[in-house]
Amino acid sequence: MSIGEFSLIDTYFSRIGENPNIALGIGDDAASVELPDGHVLQISTDTAIEGVHFPRDFAPADIAYRSVMAAASDLAAMGASPIGMLLAITLPAADETWLSCFAEGLRAASDATGLPLVGGDTTRGALSLTVTVMGSTPSSSGLRRDGARPGDRVCVSGTLGDAAAGLAVIQGTLHLVDQAAAEYLQTRFARPAARLSLGESLLGVATAAIDLSDGLLADAAHVAHASGVAIDIDSSKVPLSAALRQVTDTAQIRQWALNGGDDYELLVTLPPEAPVPEALTEIGRVAAGQGVSCDQTPASWGYDHFAR
Ligand code: ADP
Ligand code: MG
Repeated sequence: MSIGEFSLIDTYFSRIGENPNIALGIGDDAASVELPDGHVLQISTDTAIEGVHFPRDFAPADIAYRSVMAAASDLAAMGASPIGMLLAITLPAADETWLSCFAEGLRAASDATGLPLVGGDTTRGALSLTVTVMGSTPSSSGLRRDGARPGDRVCVSGTLGDAAAGLAVIQGTLHLVDQAAAEYLQTRFARPAARLSLGESLLGVATAAIDLSDGLLADAAHVAHASGVAIDIDSSKVPLSAALRQVTDTAQIRQWALNGGDDYELLVTLPPEAPVPEALTEIGRVAAGQGVSCDQTPASWGYDHFAR
């Protein structure tokens, strides 16, 4: 006999994480969230669809982990401190083996981000997940996209292009002799890390921030547009992992680093006088003008679901 909707929720989705700001979690008609005095709620949602955002037959624990991190990354980019998340999930069937693996990934991501699961919705249909995340920042101090100013330095966290290369490994289009490198890249796709503590540490420091979900050049263009400035990126300064540098096709490396999505690193702009924190690498400058320029002409500009 298959498990019913309510025991499914109780067995797999209750009791995942905690946070002192959650006055009421799963089980009632809505969750209750308390905000610290003088703080504002930062809220964001992200959908992941099988066959679009992750391959068919992707491990259920990784589907959960990746979806939570993709959503949590938006909180990181606002400099928000985590409060909780909601999960709206559509499942083709109540497969308990699948669900227990999924719940394990969900718990791991909840622990890693500090986002307890406080509610959601469970329906039947083609596999898709929508994760809504909540965080808080002191009033009006959130990191926005529109604060970059001419003279600012453009910096990124971590290394870029790994997730796109990892997806190619998973899809069987990239083969590396070095198995450890191949595995590292796959993990960067399957288990990204939202840069929450880095984001928080940049409150009051960075002039603008965005998380890298669509690709470096595409996301930099969002900051340039919102701020009304030009951004110039020096491709030779873009940080690459040792694993990605194992790829022999250097044009492909550049393509992934500049246009590959899903790394969930942060791009921030820093005023000229601010020291560059250790977690960041300077890759360019903000200038008067508009748009993004780069010494390399990209083959494509990031991912757009509706582009033809
Ligand atoms: P309602 O019919 O009032 O929308 P539901 O029956 O859908 O409530 O859900 C009952 C409780 O379980 C609610 O607290 C809801 O937030 C929670 N819930 C349902 N699905 C999920 C899920 N996938 N993850 C977390 N909580 C869930
Ligand atoms: Mg409901």
